[in-house]
Amino acid sequence: MSSAIQCPCGQGDYANCCEPLHLKLTVAQSAEQLMRSRYSAFAQQQIDYLIETTALGQQPSLDRVAIREWSQRNQWLKLEVIQHLPKLDKTHASVEFKAHYHDGNTVQVHHELSYFVQHQGQWYFLDPTVDHHFTMKQPCICGSGKKFKQCCAQFL
Ligand SMILES: [Zn+2]
Ligand SMILES: [Zn+2]
Repeated sequence: MSSAIQCPCGQGDYANCCEPLHLKLTVAQSAEQLMRSRYSAFAQQQIDYLIETTALGQQPSLDRVAIREWSQRNQWLKLEVIQHLPKLDKTHASVEFKAHYHDGNTVQVHHELSYFVQHQGQWYFLDPTVDHHFTMKQPCICGSGKKFKQCCAQFL
């Protein structure tokens, strides 16, 4: 194991923080942990991880090239988790955070309120930028089997 490398998310050694998640040795225990591991994945350009931790039904719509360019264009400096609400309902959570990065010219702060869904023991990011070309009565993008309208649509 690689030791003494600081985790990009700021919670100590990478080997004891986001690396086990990136290597799929374990799964995130909370939406906050998943969010942290996604930030670290951005910092390390682990595009597969970013795609695999997005809601199942959204994964085919993600723009891999755009995600890679966005992650590479910036230098990721620091993550600040502002607020984690772990139980919006049985399967949804939110994380408000600030990602500090350098865009080549100046330091920027990306402030976001993200929503997450838990499905079969795993947390997934609900990407608000994905267009959904289906009716609200179709099964939810998260795999829950509920109607989209009664499940993740409330958080997108
Ligand atoms: Zn970490
Ligand atoms: Zn859902």
